[in-house]
Amino acid sequence: MGGFASDISLGSVLETLKSLYGVAQSTDEKQLLDWHLANLEYANAGCLSNLSAAQWDQDDPFEMAGDHCFLAGGNGRLIKAMCEGVAIFYRKTVNTIRYGNEGVEIIAGDQVFQADFALCTVPLGVLKKKAINFQPELPARKLESIERMGFGLLNKVAMVFPHVFWGEERDTFGCLNEKSHDRGEFFLFYGYHTVSGGSALIALVAGEAAQTFETTDPSILLNRVLAILKGIFQPKGITVPDPIQSICTRWGSDPLSYGSYSHVSVQSSGQDYDILAENVGNRLFFAGEATCRQYPATMHGAFMSGLREADRAEITI
Ligand SMILES: Cc1cc2nc3c(=O)[nH]c(=O)nc-3n(C[C@H](O)[C@H](O)[C@H](O)COP(=O)(O)OP(=O)(O)OC[C@H]3O[C@@H](n4cnc5c(N)ncnc54)[C@H](O)[C@@H]3O)c2cc1C
Repeated sequence: MGGFASDISLGSVLETLKSLYGVAQSTDEKQLLDWHLANLEYANAGCLSNLSAAQWDQDDPFEMAGDHCFLAGGNGRLIKAMCEGVAIFYRKTVNTIRYGNEGVEIIAGDQVFQADFALCTVPLGVLKKKAINFQPELPARKLESIERMGFGLLNKVAMVFPHVFWGEERDTFGCLNEKSHDRGEFFLFYGYHTVSGGSALIALVAGEAAQTFETTDPSILLNRVLAILKGIFQPKGITVPDPIQSICTRWGSDPLSYGSYSHVSVQSSGQDYDILAENVGNRLFFAGEATCRQYPATMHGAFMSGLREADRAEITI
């Protein structure tokens, strides 16, 4: 698909096809289809109504072979290893970046850091919010890409229970929702007991539900997710205990991200990732998942974009 299809959302195409072919008429089929649509919204961190019908899967040809996997002990181990010997200043929120022929100045509160070059890796959500004041303003084509690209939501409730009640051998299980607009609410659960060593269970919230989740009281959300778990396990004679600890993510309102990860929204294309990756005046470089056309929305995409920019900066020097 191309041409006019870049103005059409994946959601509207699927809705049209669904009614044209009379797909998923029974309640069971409808709920099952909704589950798969929620899964698609999870993968893209966005509502289907915002995804480009023509370009949403532009990165598919680059997909790596092999299974998805969890890193035992958590991703933090990887980050820790990469940070060894690197000077990192924590709790410095950059509010201004000045750049020009002489070099760059990074301003965080009352501190000014000067350098020959800078690599900006803040999330696309932060760029969209204009939380950083670039002086001079970024080129118009980059600003237009930032505007066009999608940066949506995937939220989670993470819970630690006194024991693994969902089955030691079970890594993941799903749940069908009755209403289409709630289809992404707690539709998928991941057990982390095999990787974290504790009885941790994570419930995913995608699509429209991820947006309402942001403004709903965590105690209400916890009660809802527990009711779902009880609905699944109590008929099997399994008691669902109260969690020892729980946390609800709020990626959309976090001022250091303003969203979860990027997607190709209506009007956008893979080219916008390349434009976001362009450096400005050989002084200001950009990396991060939203600059990686082949592997966007992933950890490895973010990592590879860092290697790419280190290489570019070295060539420039
Ligand atoms: C819920 C969820 C599930 C995910 N699941 C997976 C998965 O299963 N597999 C996978 O590969 N990827 C997954 N991802 C995506 C992956 O986490 C991201 O693609 C990756 O972390 C992006 O890395 P990044 O370096 O581009 O941005 P980030 O990791 O967001 O790093 C940006 C950094 O910039 C900092 N920052 C922001 N604003 C400022 C400022 N003004 N001043 C100073 N610092 C600032 C932030 O604090 C942050 O440390 C998931 C993401 C989410 C949210």
